Amino acid sequence: MKIKTGVLLAVAVLAVAFLPLPDFWITQLNYIGLYSLTGLGLVLLTGVAGLTSFGQAAFVGIGAYATAWLTLNLDMSPWLTLFIGLAITALSALVVGGITLRMSGHYLPLATIAWGLSLYYLMGNLDALGKYDGLLGVPGLQLLGWDVGQGRGFFVLTWAILLLAAAALLMLLDSRPGRAMRSLKNGTQMAEAMGVHTLRYKIVIFVIAALLASVSGWLFAHFQRSVNPSPFGLKMGIEYLFMTVVGGVGHVWGAITGAFLTKLLEDKLQVLLPQLIGTSGSYEIIVFGIVLVLMLKFLPDGLWSMVERYLPHPPRTRHWDAAAPLAERSKPQAGELVLDVQNIRKEFGGLVAVNDISFQIQAGQIVGLIGPNGAGKSTTFNLITGVLSLTRGHVLFRDQEVAGLRSREIAQQGMSRTFQHVKMIPDMTVLENVALGGHLRGHKDVLSAMTGTNREEEKQLFKEAERQLQRIGMGEHLNELAGNLAMGPQRLMEIARALCSDPALLLLDEPAAGLRHKEKKALAAVLRQLQSEGMSILLVEHDMDLVMDVCDHLVVMEFGTLLTQGTPAEIQQSPAVRAAYLGTEH
Ligand code: ADP
Ligand code: MG
Repeated sequence: MKIKTGVLLAVAVLAVAFLPLPDFWITQLNYIGLYSLTGLGLVLLTGVAGLTSFGQAAFVGIGAYATAWLTLNLDMSPWLTLFIGLAITALSALVVGGITLRMSGHYLPLATIAWGLSLYYLMGNLDALGKYDGLLGVPGLQLLGWDVGQGRGFFVLTWAILLLAAAALLMLLDSRPGRAMRSLKNGTQMAEAMGVHTLRYKIVIFVIAALLASVSGWLFAHFQRSVNPSPFGLKMGIEYLFMTVVGGVGHVWGAITGAFLTKLLEDKLQVLLPQLIGTSGSYEIIVFGIVLVLMLKFLPDGLWSMVERYLPHPPRTRHWDAAAPLAERSKPQAGELVLDVQNIRKEFGGLVAVNDISFQIQAGQIVGLIGPNGAGKSTTFNLITGVLSLTRGHVLFRDQEVAGLRSREIAQQGMSRTFQHVKMIPDMTVLENVALGGHLRGHKDVLSAMTGTNREEEKQLFKEAERQLQRIGMGEHLNELAGNLAMGPQRLMEIARALCSDPALLLLDEPAAGLRHKEKKALAAVLRQLQSEGMSILLVEHDMDLVMDVCDHLVVMEFGTLLTQGTPAEIQQSPAVRAAYLGTEH
């Protein structure tokens, strides 16, 4: 969205305060604004990074209780307590996130439930916080003599904060750190291989989400003029997640859509259901549960995704022509030893997947690693790139030991790879996916992205991404969604992404798998061209025609061991290789 459109939209929203609406509706909008603020955090957490938290209400509680206690007991200004509350929130989010985000699978949601519950009981049992009665008489908010503590004033304040936060998140998501965050959703392997410190980004996301919740809590405390534990319990934690999922957890505007719907539905149901059933009670929860199940089944991306479909998606303007090129690393001279693999070994329990393999790659060479299925090629690949840890052995990359380093550290040294099964971010454009490969060549981080001071570097990254796409013949597909590409272009895109990191060694795991004959020819041409530009390549490949065609040197594996190595002509003549392939190939 253009800045001008955004500002106009924001002014239009805030102008609602001056419409002759009944006060009831303004109050509703105030609650919707408060819920949306917390929902924004969940968009980042759940929608973007795939992390589920039921504990957001607890962070709302920290913001609310911090300001309530400090304004009541120490007579501080709410504008000061906001920041103290944020500091406490950030600290607790760092601790909770630092512990829980290392866990995988279902442990994170469970841990956030535990966190939500324990904070609820803490709030309810501390004398200083008034136990379950809470704290009463919290002052309202004043801004430059204007009463923004309730009604229309509060609406303008809350929605201004909400829209600012939404704009900051939108800018963040469309940036270097944002692309890194969006790469977290489907496992961390690809992101780490692109040099992304995935745990660090998860923690940053967790903290941002907690801070948004905390601001909402601060506003809430001064709006209600009192705090007690019930709005910050687990039930509300679940409701926040419910709202955001229904609205569309994958999109910033989904949070607001969800808050709108839930609030309106809740009010209607609270009146309607007791009339229907004849007794009073929170029956709306049951309806919410049913709606959630139906939504997850029929519209898993939430309601906003339906609106999104009809919105225009103009291609990114090519504004980066004048940008300075990114710095390049010094490359090895032709013939220099780039990779020296020495007796590497990997045991999976009793299975020796890679049995003391050694080989070398000189600068400018294309070396093929071949062998029947299960020979240990991908494992060898993962050992070299740091995805798996070695049982023993050494890997020297440009004379530096890289064995034992993490894959993002090895990426930093100048090795870049593709995956046997394409790993990409399907809802990002080809250009953005490739720009992720340049992650380590940029430095602007979250705050810079949120405030828009990263513009120049973004241009540099996109310029580089476009250059790499043109290099492999995909200059026509910049603005296509990666998920819409056929297999061939997807694999080429992965190569461009790897190239975008400015590697000294390129590792390709079965780049021709699933390609048609013509696409394979095109791939061979790309590989030869890269070689002519001085690139060194390690190629794992099943397609013998391609391998024999482009490789200078072949390493043949069978059952984890090195069968033989030599030039393609030598390998073709080798009786041992023929024997190995008989019965497994053709
Ligand atoms: P290739 O890529 O040559 O087809 P792989 O390197 O994928 O072969 O696998 C080599 C052997 O190691 C196979 O027998 C495979 O089952 C085994 N293997 C691979 N990864 C693992 C793992 N994570 N745990 C246990 N065994 C594995
Ligand atoms: Mg493999």
